[in-house]
Amino acid sequence: MNTSKYIYLDNAATTPMDPRVIEELNKHFKDTYGNSSSLHSLGQKAGQILLKSREIVASLINANRDDVFFTSSGTEADNIAIFGVTSKNKERGNHLITSSIEHHAVENPFKQLEKKGFDVTFLPVDKYGLIDVVELENVITDKTILISIMFANNEIGTIEPVKEIGVIAKKHDVIFHTDAVQAFGKVPIDVNDMNIDLLSASAHKLHGPKGVGMLYIRNKGVRKGWGKFIEPIMFGGGHEKNIRPSTVNVPGIAGFAKAVEIAKEEMPKEIERQTRLRDTIIKWVIENIEDSFLNGHPTLRLPNNINLGFKYIEGESIVLDLDTERIATSTGSACSSESLEPSHVLLAIGLRPKDAHGSLRISLGRFTTEEDIDYFLEKLPHVIERLRKISPLKKGVKYMFEENPKNYQH
Ligand SMILES: *Cc1c(COP(=O)(O)O)cnc(C)c1O
Repeated sequence: MNTSKYIYLDNAATTPMDPRVIEELNKHFKDTYGNSSSLHSLGQKAGQILLKSREIVASLINANRDDVFFTSSGTEADNIAIFGVTSKNKERGNHLITSSIEHHAVENPFKQLEKKGFDVTFLPVDKYGLIDVVELENVITDKTILISIMFANNEIGTIEPVKEIGVIAKKHDVIFHTDAVQAFGKVPIDVNDMNIDLLSASAHKLHGPKGVGMLYIRNKGVRKGWGKFIEPIMFGGGHEKNIRPSTVNVPGIAGFAKAVEIAKEEMPKEIERQTRLRDTIIKWVIENIEDSFLNGHPTLRLPNNINLGFKYIEGESIVLDLDTERIATSTGSACSSESLEPSHVLLAIGLRPKDAHGSLRISLGRFTTEEDIDYFLEKLPHVIERLRKISPLKKGVKYMFEENPKNYQH
């Protein structure tokens, strides 16, 4: 094992770019600098690259080329979907449905809409992080206009019953958005088979560049009985049919398309390989480290996600100790890493605050090797043992916040 190497097990936060993507980006940064809307031949050339990229990205999810709208991020795609649909249809109804374990890029727009008078149902999840589709159907009213449920969770990796949600949304004629940022390029997605109307993705989660995302909009936003079901939330030039009207990042998008092309080609092999690594880690830790447990579903989970709980210690300390061994991991979402609040996802699956604090997310990528995992599993037990030795909780000291877990609720 090369000790100067960093072992990167935080691919759910972001991924290193594939060298083939970097090569593609370099080529286009150098040559494809025209504005894709310009009339001259450099602009036309950029326009052609854009068209080709749209086709490649659409093909990964069985979408029409013209239904793919490029954005600057997954967060931007989520915001355009949620605010675009609610702003266009507020006369039609003010009831929205989402889950209680969404990424902040979906959760916070809905909280904003609640302040503006929308009625938002945050569906609970079971101990694995799954929503209940019967409950979903029960909460739909004639005022419901939008369901937004993530494809797969970024912290615990649970894959939601997207196809069943799509059936229910279609049956009740409600728009269905899914934040597929973690799932896109990792597991098969078919927007037609799954009745998805809107889908968000982001290049940097699949070994592509940061700052490039995508929103799929079924039939360019036209729906029978609704007319246009989404409207722009930003105003400027006419790029991306006004949905994201800034000068188009053609080189970044070409890099995104390259990342998609590779992900598509390697998906069957990577699902098999990463699932095997994932299950090796889970099995080894549960068997060899006492008072450890798995968060999320044992099988309905992303091939690259492992989320483990360790009693009596803090996830942040585990992450920092592993970092000194040149291993990068996370406690959960990158956004909550700076606050002391336990993750809303772990509280939603029913963990007590003190147990939610001891979580460690290990997320694999295309460049994670078996040797990386061996090294990680060699170091982890020492880190856990050392931290438990100095843990007051292990010595029976009462957890100071346990009396009032409400303090932690969002
Ligand atoms: C990373 C992530 C986002 C945000 O994507 P950005 O491109 O970083 O804005 C949104 N949703 C989920 C589930 C994510 O994992």
